[in-house]
Amino acid sequence: MNLILMGAPGAGKGTQSAKISEKWNIPAVSTGDMLRAAVREGTEMGVKAKSFMDAGQLVPDEVVIGIIKDYLSSDKCKNGFILDGFPRSIPQAEALDAMGVKIDAALSIEVADEKIVERMSGRRICSGCGASYHVVYNAPKTADVCDACGASLYTRDDDAESTVLNRLNTYHEITEPLKDYYAAKGLLVCVQGCEKVEDTTAAVMGALSRFEA
Ligand code: ADP
Ligand code: ZN
Repeated sequence: MNLILMGAPGAGKGTQSAKISEKWNIPAVSTGDMLRAAVREGTEMGVKAKSFMDAGQLVPDEVVIGIIKDYLSSDKCKNGFILDGFPRSIPQAEALDAMGVKIDAALSIEVADEKIVERMSGRRICSGCGASYHVVYNAPKTADVCDACGASLYTRDDDAESTVLNRLNTYHEITEPLKDYYAAKGLLVCVQGCEKVEDTTAAVMGALSRFEA
C-alpha cells in the first residue's frame, strides 16, 4: 500500500502513521521529522529550513521534494510506504506524480481548528523515539518521560500558540487544496479525528481495510 496521510498540523498524522506502519509493515516517512533531524544536525538544509518552520510556513518545495525523491527510490519502500506530511502543496503533489509513483489512497484526518490549538499547546514529543504525547489527553505514565523508550519529552519549537495559528493558515491556504486534487483522482478518503485517539484509529483502520495487510 502506497499511502499519503494528510490533515492539519496536530490532526494526529504521526500517531496514525505509526499504527499503520506497524499493521502493514511498511515504512512511514515524516518530512517534518526529517527536517527537524536536519535542524538538530545543523546541516545546510537544516539551517535553511529552520526559519520557515519557526515561522509556521512551509519549507520551499524543492527542498522537501529532494528529500522525498531520495527516500522513495530507496529499497525500503519497495513494498509500500506512508508519506506523513508530504505532499503539502500542489507543486509537491505534481512532483510526486512526475516521479511515477503510484498512490493507492490519500487519507485526510479531519479536525476542527479550535481543537487543534488546544491539542498543540499540550503536545510533548519523545527525544528518543519521536512518540507523541499530550499532557491531558495522552499523558505518559511518568511526567516528561517516554513510556516506550524512557527518553525525555520536549515541546516542539513550532508548537507555540502564535506559530500554530500560522501553521493552520498555511494548511488551509496551501495544503487543503490537495483534497480536491486527490478527490479528482478518486483517491481521497476522509476520516474524523476530533475525538479520542482510539476512535480515530478505528476510523483509519476501517477506511484502509480494503488494502491487504
Ligand atoms: P505538523 O503536521 O504538525 O505541522 P510536521 O512535523 O509535519 O508537523 O511539520 C513541521 C514543519 O515542517 C511544517 O510546519 C513545515 O514548516 C515543515 N514541513 C514538513 N513537511 C513539509 C512539506 N512537505 N513541505 C514543506 N514544509 C514541510
Ligand atoms: Zn520514546
